[in-house]
Amino acid sequence: MSSKTLEQFLISNLNELKEKGLYNVIDPLESPNGPVIKIKGRELINLSSNNYLGLATADRLKKAAEKAIEQFGVGAGAVRTINGTLELHVKLEEKLAEFKGTEAAIAYQSGFNCNMAAISAVMDKNDAILSDELNHASIIDGCRLSRAKIIRFNHSDMDDLRAKAKEARESGLYKKLMVITDGVFSMDGDIALLPEIVEIAEEYDLMTYVDDAHGSGVLGKGAGTVKHFGLQDKIDFQIGTLSKAIGVVGGYVAGKKNLIDWLKVRSRPFLFSTSLTPADVAASIASIEVLTESTELVERLWENGNYLKKGLKDLGFNIGNSETPITPCIIGEEKLTQEFSKRLDEEGVYAKSIVFPTVPAGTGRVRNMPTAAHTKEMLDKAISIYEKVGKEMGVIK
Ligand code: PMP
Repeated sequence: MSSKTLEQFLISNLNELKEKGLYNVIDPLESPNGPVIKIKGRELINLSSNNYLGLATADRLKKAAEKAIEQFGVGAGAVRTINGTLELHVKLEEKLAEFKGTEAAIAYQSGFNCNMAAISAVMDKNDAILSDELNHASIIDGCRLSRAKIIRFNHSDMDDLRAKAKEARESGLYKKLMVITDGVFSMDGDIALLPEIVEIAEEYDLMTYVDDAHGSGVLGKGAGTVKHFGLQDKIDFQIGTLSKAIGVVGGYVAGKKNLIDWLKVRSRPFLFSTSLTPADVAASIASIEVLTESTELVERLWENGNYLKKGLKDLGFNIGNSETPITPCIIGEEKLTQEFSKRLDEEGVYAKSIVFPTVPAGTGRVRNMPTAAHTKEMLDKAISIYEKVGKEMGVIK
């Protein structure tokens, strides 16, 4: 039996979330997370997955995973520093460093975990972190865990960053300073202003940290936002996830050898949590090989992204300022946004609504994630459903 205090806490809070329409109802998929998914027996065009390149279901990755299971089993058996480092983990880290153009790399069990690990291994209570206000939750949690002072700057506002960096440096209050940004912002699809950030970082001696979860496999011919700007030598921490374009699960930091050596002895998830499974690692290696051998999938992703964007824009939808395939369709009011997404679902398109507090109040949106695996026919069908629902609900004329 649970305590009365716990029960009261849970019931009142769960009810409040349900009343506000903020309680997440999760519908399990009865299919792989591909361009078309099956939920409750219905097939839907899927515009909500991060499987940007369709690699989550690629035969080459599945075969690599099967072979690794045959050879190494299903579990790594220990944390990395005891004896949970298989030769596969080392190979993955070598591949990641090559892929990102850095001296070395370290793999973690997830992108979320990676931000918790890396920030707190380097920053402490004597330091300060300049963090874009729209940075991902895992960056925010990683910053909190480090106990460094967190100084938020307005989203991609370089004047604000410069002023705050100057103030932090001149205050003399902090030993180390770091600037952290997403490479691509997942709610709007805009790209961080890395050349300007690097310039400010050089002026005020800030370490630079870029979480490129949504840029890797997408920008820079697949190598990411840092490569897109040719700044491989200027960014100290290149963070990535193996769960989105790479199609598997896991996270990593790519950087100088000394940084990676430090993370191997100081970052807690590396020291205290069992390493990635052989199947995850082998599939990730195969995925990076696919990406380095050809840019075909990346090109198809952009083609599909541009096609969907044009289709929705021509219909009169507000698709914001995305510079990447991420295509928000900004509806505005929260309830209307949720209703819009529900109607899309009823008509055959799975595209999740994203509302306050994830995005500012009044900017509720349905976020579309086209992938390389969508066909033109699927996108045409999705666009025509958007047109029907948009007109019916008065969102477009
Ligand atoms: N960073 C960013 C910017 C993300 O969007 C995400 C995924 N939502 C993560 C980190 C976490 O990555 P993972 O899903 O691999 O834990």
